[in-house]
Amino acid sequence: MVQQNSANSNESLVEHMWRNKVITHPMVRSAFLKVDRGQYAPGDAYDDSPQVLGHHATISAPHMHAKAVESLLPYLLPYTKSQQATNGVEEDVVGVRGRRRRILDIGSGSGFLVHMLAELAGETAVVIGVDHIDGLRKLGETNMRRSPEGAALLATGRVRFCLGDGRKGWPTANLVDGDDGEGWDAIHVGAAAVKLHDELVRQLRSPGRLFIPVAEEENNWSSDKHIWTVDKDEKGNITKTKHYQVKYVSLMDALGAAPHLST
Ligand code: SAH
Repeated sequence: MVQQNSANSNESLVEHMWRNKVITHPMVRSAFLKVDRGQYAPGDAYDDSPQVLGHHATISAPHMHAKAVESLLPYLLPYTKSQQATNGVEEDVVGVRGRRRRILDIGSGSGFLVHMLAELAGETAVVIGVDHIDGLRKLGETNMRRSPEGAALLATGRVRFCLGDGRKGWPTANLVDGDDGEGWDAIHVGAAAVKLHDELVRQLRSPGRLFIPVAEEENNWSSDKHIWTVDKDEKGNITKTKHYQVKYVSLMDALGAAPHLST
């Protein structure tokens, strides 16, 4: 984990993460330089720590945002031959040429990651943030409007903040163009689940990746939590990988502290 850092600007925060190899891809570095965390965090925006947003939510620490974006990057970048040669990620970019990227951020909170994901996924991508508390759904949208770039992304209609229970994912049927097939290239979950929700895996495209913090013991939300990734390859085969331990607030029922245990 990156050393605690009290930076006084977005640039110094990003450079700190770059020096400590939390950010390793030049494209991620440049996106983090473009999307100012000060637009999204209520205070101490450039500390490498989570900050309270209200409604039992926090904006995740910058190093956690960076790790999530680095993990999802091959599923975010537009897949074209020419970009493969120049974007520094080369053969790691996963996808089907010509497909419009579709990205889902569950537990969008401050909105920071929605903006970051949209920045990396490019101008044809669809990026949807889902939160189950309307105050937070609106917060994400309001924060994003605070920069001309964020406002422009919202104005296209391809970047949206929606209200819903993220454990069910989000339907892509009304986002599908032509015979592009349903599902998400990348799903990020910003709160800890009590299990790997099959419905989210089902909603992945082939290929696609889910990034999700999950409690160690199924249906025990107070147990240790780890990041998991679930990859669906082009043939639909699923690979589940358990990564490092993390601290996250829980995915829960709206309007209450009780965790949702049944789905
Ligand atoms: N990734 C965001 C927020 C993290 S806090 C950021 O860094 O700003 C976790 C978020 O998950 C909160 O906004 C909370 O309201 C949301 N959340 C919790 N349970 C949820 C559920 N069942 N469906 C959708 N969002 C949920």
